[in-house]
Amino acid sequence: MAKVMVLGGGFGGLAAAHELRSRLDSEHEILLVAADDRFFVGYAKLWDLVGTRPLAQGTARLGALDAKGIRFVNARITAIDPTRRAIETSAGPFDADYMIVALGAGRGRGKLGAADHGAFDLYDPDRLPAMRSELEHLDAGRVVIAVLGTPYVCPPAPYEAAFLVEEYLRRRGLRDRVEVVVATPMPSPLPMAGPDVDQLVASGLAGQGIDLRTGLQTAKIDTDAKSASFADGTTLDYALLLGIPSAVPPTVIADSPLAGEDGWVWPDPGTGRTVFDGVYAVGDCTAVESLPRAGVFAEALGRAAATSIAAEIDGGTTTPYDGAGYCFLEFNGRRAAALEGEFFNKPKPILRMAEPDTDTYARKEAFEAERLHTWLAWTHPA
Ligand SMILES: Cc1cc2nc3c(=O)[nH]c(=O)nc-3n(C[C@H](O)[C@H](O)[C@H](O)COP(=O)(O)OP(=O)(O)OC[C@H]3O[C@@H](n4cnc5c(N)ncnc54)[C@H](O)[C@@H]3O)c2cc1C
Repeated sequence: MAKVMVLGGGFGGLAAAHELRSRLDSEHEILLVAADDRFFVGYAKLWDLVGTRPLAQGTARLGALDAKGIRFVNARITAIDPTRRAIETSAGPFDADYMIVALGAGRGRGKLGAADHGAFDLYDPDRLPAMRSELEHLDAGRVVIAVLGTPYVCPPAPYEAAFLVEEYLRRRGLRDRVEVVVATPMPSPLPMAGPDVDQLVASGLAGQGIDLRTGLQTAKIDTDAKSASFADGTTLDYALLLGIPSAVPPTVIADSPLAGEDGWVWPDPGTGRTVFDGVYAVGDCTAVESLPRAGVFAEALGRAAATSIAAEIDGGTTTPYDGAGYCFLEFNGRRAAALEGEFFNKPKPILRMAEPDTDTYARKEAFEAERLHTWLAWTHPA
């Protein structure tokens, strides 16, 4: 009997655990350890913020894994020893024959510091009620959606947030009194995707009167004065600032031998295999070629890692990841576009994005429902 331990219950960990369960006989144990017993897709936070749907209605519980033959341990991992494939956790030590590390990225708050009113970490699910309340009470001024540093998780998210916040304000009849600005340190909205995609995003933002400011590196956020200043001398006063945190390596990984010099894990791009025997790493906690940090890539590499492990245990075929994938970008009016392509193509990725439409929005809704339902037996709220 073999034991496989999956660290993390996000996209990468859940995809890997289910792939393993579907390939391995029940005599082999699969254990999944995660600090948070919830799973929701990232964009469900934006839907909560603008009143599309409360986050709780798009949240599934990892406790549902046990009924699927995957043992769930709800515990915080405090140390990882990849040479022994062993971990220390708040629920005691665990070890295994194989280990898949899928712990996601930490959130770097940059110049936001400890601010928790007026200026927020947009990705912090626990602060959504406060963000929503401040948005609801807004009746004049400026909303600044600011990328606080790079890299960050889900490159399209700042623009999605801008479209959704703008639409929310317009619905409330406030658009002539509230300005919406999206500020990024990058030279264009999605530089990796090329000029056509950049143009599509920039013209979409301009069409909604959203002020796109590129090349703005946040230098200071003065939460008393409600003012953000940038390295080039630009200052933006705000009524509400929604900051996109930078992606930082989780401390427990950065403190372990798994980490490269920059704190991220650098696994094989096709299999997630690391230099440690039987240890794989997938998802946002890794640095993999030109892959953005997004759920689809975490799950694709998670599945590939699972096929490699299952093949080692029981034989069978492996399916390495080829770098094909897509990310959704939601526009206003229940429309979305998919940024898709071949991310491992050399010398650079080949990416494309069609005009946003309602069919792609429906695909985005289905993407969420499929994962919540298949992985965690979630049913659509009535
Ligand atoms: C607003 C927004 C919109 C997004 N939209 C999209 C989209 O349209 N498409 C898309 O593909 N992606 C999207 N994403 C990105 C996506 O959510 C992430 O890339 C994805 O969650 C990464 O998956 P992961 O498995 O690597 O990590 P995560 O999903 O972050 O999971 C990490 C897991 O590790 C656990 N963990 C972490 N540290 C510890 C510890 N010390 N001990 C125990 N457990 C720990 C956590 O509890 C969690 O279970 C979006 C993100 C945001 C914020």
